[in-house]
Parts: sequence; C-alpha cells; structure tokens
Amino acid sequence: MAVFRARAVAVAAGVPAAFAVLAGLLTVCSTTATATAAEPARVVSAADQRPWSVTRDLVRTARPPMAVTFHLPTADRVVFITIDDGVHKDTKGLRYVEATKLPVTAFLTAWTIKDRARYFSRITRWGSIQNHSATHTSMALSTTDLEHEICYSQRALSKDFGTTPWLMRPPYGAGFARMETQVTAARCGIDDFVMWDAVVENGRLVDVGNGLRPGSVILLHFTPNLEKDLKAAVRAARAAGLKPADLADYLPAPSPR
Ligand SMILES: [Zn+2]
Repeated sequence: MAVFRARAVAVAAGVPAAFAVLAGLLTVCSTTATATAAEPARVVSAADQRPWSVTRDLVRTARPPMAVTFHLPTADRVVFITIDDGVHKDTKGLRYVEATKLPVTAFLTAWTIKDRARYFSRITRWGSIQNHSATHTSMALSTTDLEHEICYSQRALSKDFGTTPWLMRPPYGAGFARMETQVTAARCGIDDFVMWDAVVENGRLVDVGNGLRPGSVILLHFTPNLEKDLKAAVRAARAAGLKPADLADYLPAPSPR
C-alpha cells in the first residue's frame, strides 16, 4: 500500500488581507522503498486561504477558537521534533530515542498503526501521541468523513494508548481552515492544528525557509530512515544552538481531560 506524504512550508504574505501561503510538494513513497518521487508543486485550495487574524508564526482563526501553529513563538532555545504516519517502525530509531531520551511527538494515523510491541508508546516516552487522522484522507475534500477521520481517531488512539490527543496534524497539511474541519475537531477534543516550518527527510534538513530558530516545528516520518532523520534533526538543532523539547510542554493538554 502506498503512503502519500506531503511537505509544506508556510511563508508570510506581504499584504494585510493575505496570510500564510502554504506551498506543498507531494511525495509518494511505498512502505518498503525509501526512494520518493516528486510530483508537481501544489498550492492549497482557496478554502485554506481565508483572511484571518494572522502573524507570521501563529495563525489564529476568529471562530471556532482553533489555533493553527507552524512555529511556536518562544524565547527558549528549543525545537520540536514531530514524526508522522506510523506504518514503518524502525527499531534503530527507537533505540536512538531511548538512548538519548529524545522528546518526540508522534502524529499517528489510527487505521494503519499496529502497536502490539508498544513501539509508539516507547518512542514517545519523553513526548506524546497525537492525531493524524484515521485513513490519511485530505480534509480539504468535501467528501471526506471528518467525523471518522477526526473523532474515530480520537477514540481509537485513546483506547490504544490511554491518553486522548489534543493536537492534530491534518494529512498533507490540508483542509485545516475549513469551518467543518475546525468545528468537528473542536467538538472531538482537538485544541490545536500543528503544522511545521522545517522538514527532515533522507537524513537531511530541507524546506527550512528561514532556518531553524527557537520554536521551530520539524516534520519527520516513520520510515526506514528514521534513525538517520532523527540524528539529522538533532544535529541541525545543535548547529543552531537549539535543543529538542517536548511539544506537550509548550502546547499542553487542557485540564481537566
Ligand atoms: Zn501523513
């Protein structure tokens, strides 16, 4: 089964009515092969480009109160490592996380993960498990069953891991601005849509935009390259004078839950 992945970079628009423009470049990779094939650049739909109250780093909608975070404004010298999907479970990556007590946030697709060996529980021991939909369907599509993609995943991940996610990363970074998406997500316990402003793949940092800075959110995927990608992320952070921190410390679960 093919796994579709996307990477995107947000840039601030220079006119008041505009806001972050999301440029996505779809990549396709099989669950067994490490090679990716680039497809034409894709710009998110007009539905993702509604005028909001916007800063360069944090997009906050007027209603419902759903934050969309590309980068966390903080003075702390920290970055956040996030890992998406969950089909492939690289044991070397897990060993590296356990040896270094590395905080990572796993955004998991509920349908595709199998965690009988408690891989995801172990790899997020210093981080958390969050929601990346049920089937990895784009939330920008009007045909997408948002109730299933968001709310079923909340229940499934909660049952599997004992904690209910409060953060969500929409597949392909798409559809987060749709009112239907926001209403459904808010109703099912999601507080923030977490995007990213840096990507590590194939062992190197790409699509960084302005470079790693305090509060950067780095996107990785659960691939056979995970150990290499984790080391590359940590190396890049150190080179910028930053260190990985737990995203849940900066975007904590609301209480009580
Ligand atoms: Zn994904």
